[in-house]
Amino acid sequence: MPRKSPRSRRRRTPEPGLPGKRRPRATPGRSHTRKRVPSAPVAHAPRGARSAPGSAPRLQARRRPAAPPRAKLRRAPRAGAEPARVAALLGILERLYPDAATPLLHADALQLLVATILSAQCTDARVNLVTPALFERFPDAAALAAADRTELEELIRSTGFYRNKAKAIQNCCTDLVAKHGGEVPRSMEELTSLPGVGRKTANVVLGSVFGIPGIVVDTHVQRLAQRLGLTKEQDPVKIERALQPQMPPAKWSAFSLWLIFHGRRVCVARKPRCSICPLLPHCPRLGVASSQ
Ligand code: SF4
Repeated sequence: MPRKSPRSRRRRTPEPGLPGKRRPRATPGRSHTRKRVPSAPVAHAPRGARSAPGSAPRLQARRRPAAPPRAKLRRAPRAGAEPARVAALLGILERLYPDAATPLLHADALQLLVATILSAQCTDARVNLVTPALFERFPDAAALAAADRTELEELIRSTGFYRNKAKAIQNCCTDLVAKHGGEVPRSMEELTSLPGVGRKTANVVLGSVFGIPGIVVDTHVQRLAQRLGLTKEQDPVKIERALQPQMPPAKWSAFSLWLIFHGRRVCVARKPRCSICPLLPHCPRLGVASSQ
């Protein structure tokens, strides 16, 4: 008798002559295709009915514990939802600061651009002390671009961060000479493509020198726009976009200056002087402690 291989010994051939008979599965009682077993119809008793005597007690639905009452949150009004209030704010601010203009001394667009770069983390008064000597020594973009770095740093040292500022001024002026013939461009795109020039600086130059409207969002504008309930945004670019549709473009540049002046004199960061503020009847004082 021939010797069988171990595999042939393990497998058994199905019995012939039995069509449809399947090989038994490894797990008895389970098939490949699941058959749906129709569920028994459930008789729903009417609500409140008692179970019949002798029948199984009905399962009680587990009740969720009652949620604690929610604390009422003070919500900011929707931006742009109150044109009458915004108009009142604009009217008061215009009367308060009729001659609002940028406090940075300048004779042209380049000087304002450089002065605005210097004003970062520095007071306008300090910048105004520095710029006359700076522009006398380096009167144009080409002179600033070619200036000796150490000499430039010494001239602007008192404005703080003088090394970074000197580098930013020289990089910006180098680009102005190379791409714009030493002139300051008149568009937001061109200005913000210059090294060290962001939307805030570009809006200052466009609004104050070229009369092109723009909302300058500095720390004062950001704080006041939130306290006045004009926006809930935190990002300066989003604040700018949120404020724009709330007033005509002709007011954009002046509105920024009004808020900057009001933020310095009345609505100061730590202790706003609400009791003497003419905007109080129209201000929700969002984020201001009630004791102030
Ligand atoms: S009322 Fe108070 S919070 Fe509102 S703008 Fe005036 S100072 Fe600021």
